[in-house]
Amino acid sequence: MSFFVCLINLSESLRGARVVVTGASTGIGEQMAYHYARFGAQIVITARREKVLQQVAEKCLSLGAQKALYIAADMGSDSDPDKVVDFALEKLGGLDYLVLNHIGPSPFSMWDGDVEHTKWLMKVNFFSYIQMAQKAMSALKQSKGSLVVVSSLLGKMAGPFVAPYASTKFALNGFFGALQHELAMKKSNVSISICTLGLIDTDSAMEKVRGVTNLPAYPAADAAMNIIITGATRQLELFYPWVTYFLTISKDWFPSITNYIIQNSYNYIP
Ligand code: NDP
Repeated sequence: MSFFVCLINLSESLRGARVVVTGASTGIGEQMAYHYARFGAQIVITARREKVLQQVAEKCLSLGAQKALYIAADMGSDSDPDKVVDFALEKLGGLDYLVLNHIGPSPFSMWDGDVEHTKWLMKVNFFSYIQMAQKAMSALKQSKGSLVVVSSLLGKMAGPFVAPYASTKFALNGFFGALQHELAMKKSNVSISICTLGLIDTDSAMEKVRGVTNLPAYPAADAAMNIIITGATRQLELFYPWVTYFLTISKDWFPSITNYIIQNSYNYIP
């Protein structure tokens, strides 16, 4: 019963909500766009591929979105993060949710010493998040809105084959974790939710880990719904699936065992 009451409250609070979702052409971002659409939100979606965004926006309208607008943007550029926020503020007349979710492609392999790639990935996966958050902050203050940051278990504990990616996720957790404290100390009405995800069955993730590990992957649509609920209920953190929470604890309490498990979860022959 209480679950249904919670769902009704959620759909009331999200109906007409003004939302930006980044990285929404595929994967978890696309699924979040569809969920927000079903709740009747007003959505701006962004990623690089305009044609794909157009198709996602059309589907959002057919699912019930009050508005579904798209803007192509490359988060590796200096100006596009601001451009997206400006576009959303102009078209929606304000902002209730900024959902930062995009990631640039990065190899799933042993570190090959490519420093330039890591710098570029920091720009896409980290600096653009800060830039958008800064640009949107006053609009979020006005609406008592929420900032939702999609992070990873790999931003809490490192694993092999993802050194550049893990660095960007650790940076996100550090920066937005600090900001959570500062907003609380200032008694700000803006909430920040940091979402720690385990392996999710998106095409891009599955392509990377196929044949390399048998770790279970969890459904993108379910991950997307959990992220939306976390933002809408203004919780500080999400751990999805729940086992990610215990993995972060076990890394601190039993580091040797956890390291052994991590290193033996992958098929790798030196
Ligand atoms: P996908 O690779 O499926 O999607 C990435 C999105 O980012 C796409 O929409 C892509 O669209 C967009 N994108 C890529 N490069 C750029 C760029 N330079 N500028 C703007 N947009 C860009 O990712 P997932 O759905 O798998 O992951 C979503 C989030 O969940 C990420 O933050 C990820 O770290 C996190 N996560 C995912 C896990 C998983 O197993 N899938 C596990 C843990 C965390 P386009 O190509 O059109 O630009």
